[in-house]
Amino acid sequence: MSYEIIKKNGVKVLQFINLRNTGFLSHGFSTRIGGVSPSPYNTLNLGFTTSDDESNLTENRRRLMSSLGLNGTLLHQQIDLVHGVRVITNRELRGDGVPVIADGILTDKIGLPLVTTFADCVPLFFVDRIKKVAGVAHAGWRGTFAGIAVKVIEKMAEVYNSNPPDILAGIGPGIGSCCFEVGDGVASLFFKKYNRWKDLAVNISNTGKWKINLFRLNKRLLMDCGLEENNISVANLCTACREDLFFSYRRDGKLSGRMTAVIAKIS
Ligand SMILES: [Zn+2]
Repeated sequence: MSYEIIKKNGVKVLQFINLRNTGFLSHGFSTRIGGVSPSPYNTLNLGFTTSDDESNLTENRRRLMSSLGLNGTLLHQQIDLVHGVRVITNRELRGDGVPVIADGILTDKIGLPLVTTFADCVPLFFVDRIKKVAGVAHAGWRGTFAGIAVKVIEKMAEVYNSNPPDILAGIGPGIGSCCFEVGDGVASLFFKKYNRWKDLAVNISNTGKWKINLFRLNKRLLMDCGLEENNISVANLCTACREDLFFSYRRDGKLSGRMTAVIAKIS
């Protein structure tokens, strides 16, 4: 298993073994378990844009951060998502904790947790174990298609002089190919751009629909960038199938809660 779901003070969080073993990080992807929100946000909802009570959200975030050994009041950097490929670094931040508009963020600074929310889009975690750089990105189908994974690796090389073989990655829970159905229009975009990989999409007989594997595409893109296969952990957990563990926008619609990916350098 490439990951473990730990439980601390009732909060369940998924952690990648390869990232944890670096020893200088705290990271995790939250589940829905261990919070205080009532249905339909039961219980660890971290979506500050949902109609859940602010006090529930604040308590949930405090619990999550505390389960990761991070002080709940610590200033963190939230990224607000645009489903694009903009990747920024801590060197571009103003330092006031105001959310930045981006889909990927990197830091080499100790004690700055990077936080972003999800409800089906695929979370990507990154660590350069030599240069000690950490990052997280948001890869929905648009971001995955546009190659946000590649943009993160390019940015790591450009800003921190990272070498791809030193980079570890974790591909977290998101919408699985089991549940990510698209029509001919979206499928043909993928076929055109990624025609070297014939197994990214499966035709569902007689429906004109396709199922696309975003986990696999992100992994291939990272390997194309020079990451070693055994340095890429894939959780292979579908947020829509696993109602016991996750919120899912595709399954629950507008009343879906949100999970959070957090990564911080702690030494
Ligand atoms: Zn599924």
